[in-house]
Amino acid sequence: MSDDQGLSCRDVVVAYGQHPALRGVSVQVAPGELVVILGANGAGKSSLLNALAGLVPSQQGEMLLGQQPLTDLPPHRIVEAGLALVPEGRGIFGDLSVEENLRLGAYSERARKQEQQNLALVYSLFPKLVERRRQIARTMSGGEQQMVAIGRAMMSAPAILMLDEPSLGLSPLLTSELFRSLRRVRDTGLGILLVEQNARQSLAIADRGYLLENGEIIGSDQAAALLADPAVQHAYLGGA
Ligand code: ATP
Repeated sequence: MSDDQGLSCRDVVVAYGQHPALRGVSVQVAPGELVVILGANGAGKSSLLNALAGLVPSQQGEMLLGQQPLTDLPPHRIVEAGLALVPEGRGIFGDLSVEENLRLGAYSERARKQEQQNLALVYSLFPKLVERRRQIARTMSGGEQQMVAIGRAMMSAPAILMLDEPSLGLSPLLTSELFRSLRRVRDTGLGILLVEQNARQSLAIADRGYLLENGEIIGSDQAAALLADPAVQHAYLGGA
């Protein structure tokens, strides 16, 4: 297992009643690395992120952030340990302003101590949010709301950030803008675990990728190698 500050999980099993969603999944993300998990609808992508975040129980397996075991910790303790999730659908508070949403992310004692510093970092990574800081979140575009959701997760001062299908509902143009901002986030030294159905655009910005099918990792490689692999092109990139 990893001996640095990265995220690693080994042989994670998740089942909903009799229905297995993850059948022994092992994944690693190093600090400063952008890793994508590709998979079709129902492959188990959300189940993996939710298990890592402590939102669904795992029946088996080990999850570590650096040396700290995450298995069986409640979700807020996992955030405090340094693992943050931007859930599918964003989950921001529509009636609050951009800045109120961001500040809500800094709820742990450790994050509160760094609140101003992290707010400045979020605004430097997402300059669009500076001019919108007092805007009510629900009046913003989908892409801007996604930036608020990512910014709010960053306010918890994570070591690793997980994102569940952030491109959902965004145009290809907004998706590439959002993905470029993820590169900037990665360049600050955060590790990113990105779950996506948008294989082409996510592989273009990722360092590494895993292929998840039917609850199992069926392949992993450098993102450039996956993009160039004919089998991956056929299965995930529309054959092109
Ligand atoms: P999507 O892209 O559609 O969100 P996914 O790859 O994220 O798919 P999961 O949502 O993790 O996949 O689902 C994996 C499997 O587990 C699917 O067969 C799904 O129907 C099932 N599943 C997910 N959540 C539950 C639940 N709460 N109860 C029962 N089955 C579930």
